[in-house]
Amino acid sequence: MTSTRNLIILGSGAAGLTAAIYAARANLAPLVFEGAQPGGQLTITTEVENFPGFRDAIMGPALMTEMRAQADRFGTDFVQAPVDSVNVKSRPFQVVADGKTYTARALIVATGASAKLLGIPSEAKLLGHGVSACATCDGFFFKERRVIVVGGGDTAMEESLFLTKFASHVTVVHRREELRASKIMQERAMKHPKISFIWDSEIAEVLGVGEGHVTGVKLRNLKTGIVTPMETDGVFIGIGHQPNTALFEGQIELHPNGYIKSHSGTKTSVPGVFAAGDVQDYIYRQAVTAAGSGCMAALDAERYLEALAHGHPEAPPASKAAKVPSA
Ligand code: NAP
Repeated sequence: MTSTRNLIILGSGAAGLTAAIYAARANLAPLVFEGAQPGGQLTITTEVENFPGFRDAIMGPALMTEMRAQADRFGTDFVQAPVDSVNVKSRPFQVVADGKTYTARALIVATGASAKLLGIPSEAKLLGHGVSACATCDGFFFKERRVIVVGGGDTAMEESLFLTKFASHVTVVHRREELRASKIMQERAMKHPKISFIWDSEIAEVLGVGEGHVTGVKLRNLKTGIVTPMETDGVFIGIGHQPNTALFEGQIELHPNGYIKSHSGTKTSVPGVFAAGDVQDYIYRQAVTAAGSGCMAALDAERYLEALAHGHPEAPPASKAAKVPSA
C-alpha cells in the first residue's frame, strides 16, 4: 500500500488531464491512472477544428500530448497500469492496479466512454479482420478498397470523410432516412463524390468469417424486411459510445444508460468522488466540455479536501457559505 494521496484521477482524456492541470497547480500532487487508452478518445481522432485556441485545427493526438505535458509540468504523477478495482465504500478510497493498492482522500472519475459495436456474432469474429470501430487507427489498411460505415451521427460522418483519403468508395449505412449528425458534417459527407448513403437499413450479418476477412455484408431494409448481399472490404462501426463505468457499478449512482449521475457541479452520490467528462455526459460529449468539467471537478475536489481538513467534508459551496446574514 502506498501513502495516502489527496487526489487520484482515473482517466487521462481531456477531462482527466484538465483536472490534473488544475489540481497540480493547487498543490494537490494528483496521481493520474492513464487507463487502457492513454489520452482518451482524442488520440483516435484526426483534426480537431473546434477546440478553442487552434485557428488552423490541431491533430487529436498532438492536443493530448500537449495536455499531458502541461499536467506533468505542474507535478502530476502518472500510472500506466490498468486499474483492476476501485473501492469508494472505504475511506480513504482505494484503487488497485497491478497488484498495488493506492489510496486517496478524493477521487475524480474521468474514465470516458468507448465505441459501441453492433453486437452481432459475425462482427465479433471479424473484428480486426475488416471490422473496425476506429477509422483513424485502421483506415490506412483500406487503400483503394470499398468500405461501409454504419451510423448517422457526427462520428459516422467524420469516419466516412476520413476514410475517403484511402478508400475507393465509402457507403454509409444508416437505420433511418435522416442523419443525426450536425449540419456542417452532413453537408460535407453528402457533397463528397466518394460517399454514398443507404437509408433505413442495418447490417444483418458481416460476411467473410470462413475466409478470415470481410468480403461483404447482408443488409436488411428495415421498412421492407428484404435482406440483400453487398460486397465490401471493410465495415467501420460509428454508432456512438458507452460509458466506462463497470468499475463503479453498485458503488456510485448511475443513470439507466450507465453514465454516472452527477449533481451540483461534478459531485456524485459518494461524497469526495467527483465525475468529469464523457463518463457523466451523454449530451454534449465534446473535448471542450470534457475539459471544462475536468476543471470543475478539480475545483470541487479542492474545496472538498479543504472542508475535510477542517472536519466538514460536506461543507456547502463557497457561494452559499458566504451568504450575507439578513439585517
Ligand atoms: P450519436 O450522435 O449518438 O449517433 C449515433 C448514430 O448511430 C445515430 O445515427 C444512431 O442512429 C446510430 N446507431 C446507434 N446505435 C445503433 C445500432 N445499434 N445500429 C445502427 N445504428 C445505430 O453518436 P456520435 O456520432 O458518436 O456523436 C456523439 C456526440 O459526439 C455528438 O454530440 C456529436 O456531435 C459529437 N461528435 C462531434 C464530432 C465533431 O464535431 N467533429 C465528431 C464526433 C462526435 P439514430 O440516429 O437512428 O439514433
